Amino acid sequence: VSIKEKMRAAVLEGVNRLEVRMIEKPQVKDADDVLLKVNLCSICGTDVHILNGTFQANVGIALGHEIIGTVEKTGYGVTKFRKGDRLIIEPNIYCGKCHYCLIDMNNQCENMVSVGVHINGGFAEYCMVKERVCHKVNDRLPEEAAVFAEPLACVLGGIKKIRPMTGESALLIGAGPIALMYLQLLKANGVKPLIVSEIKEERRRKAMELGADYSINPVEEDLETFVKGIVPYGVDYAIDAVGSQSGAACKAVRKKGKVLLFGLDMKAELKIPQRLITLNEINIMGTYIDDATFPLSVQILENNMIDVKAVTSHILPLDQIHEGIELMKKGESLKVLVKP
Ligand SMILES: [Zn+2]
Ligand SMILES: [Zn+2]
Repeated sequence: VSIKEKMRAAVLEGVNRLEVRMIEKPQVKDADDVLLKVNLCSICGTDVHILNGTFQANVGIALGHEIIGTVEKTGYGVTKFRKGDRLIIEPNIYCGKCHYCLIDMNNQCENMVSVGVHINGGFAEYCMVKERVCHKVNDRLPEEAAVFAEPLACVLGGIKKIRPMTGESALLIGAGPIALMYLQLLKANGVKPLIVSEIKEERRRKAMELGADYSINPVEEDLETFVKGIVPYGVDYAIDAVGSQSGAACKAVRKKGKVLLFGLDMKAELKIPQRLITLNEINIMGTYIDDATFPLSVQILENNMIDVKAVTSHILPLDQIHEGIELMKKGESLKVLVKP
């Protein structure tokens, strides 16, 4: 008779139902298994979408995909890592066989299995992952920074698409954690002026602290007028980190400007005069998850090139995860980290 080991986890039980309870602790079976003791796992907008029922996930699994963990045990075939190593993971496991994987577009894999969405994730004491999705971080990198590897890799996926040039101008719509990472990377690339549009005053102040040149509350002032008062022809690019602001972004860019759509609002529809895009030759680009950007993300964090502490507002124990999710829903927090 074997006694199954248990662990605490925050399990998805249905729409708006996340329950912290005991589940079976995963056991190393396959050659390439890596069992991580989770140090930290941050709450993502995607977790909020899952709980709202607007993003499909499997009921009965532990959520959480932004993970930093310490290796507890490895399968016999694992050669890159050993017990005690600290790893961040790529949560989106591509199949390597579908059309998109074969043309080197892994992030569009048709059979994607995501940790914390389809299989057990990091809002748990332990998490089982495969060797090929792990990246080691150095001993000097605090776990509170390492946990940003996944969201930063996604932000870098977008940066890779717009390819900012020194001296170009940008508008950021939203000033949540993702937008504040874009802000810092654009600033590091010498983009100026950087204009931030955000409803919440607290977040506008944070954006200014992190180096934004201008900020505006789009409810109080007209965004297009404001932007063109600073950059008469319009900005070189606009990034929508909200998920429903494509129209505002298209109006703010110059002719042949770029619009990057990062935020995800499942109900948002494009509502802009189409001629604006045609006549002004605007480039609208979607960007989804990472784009082979994990190694770069780790490098940026290890070199302390962005301030992630400024983007963090709470560190909560697993039992208080609901509080963290409520804060995220209200947009009153920045990044919320959970310590299982
Ligand atoms: Zn995420
Ligand atoms: Zn695939």
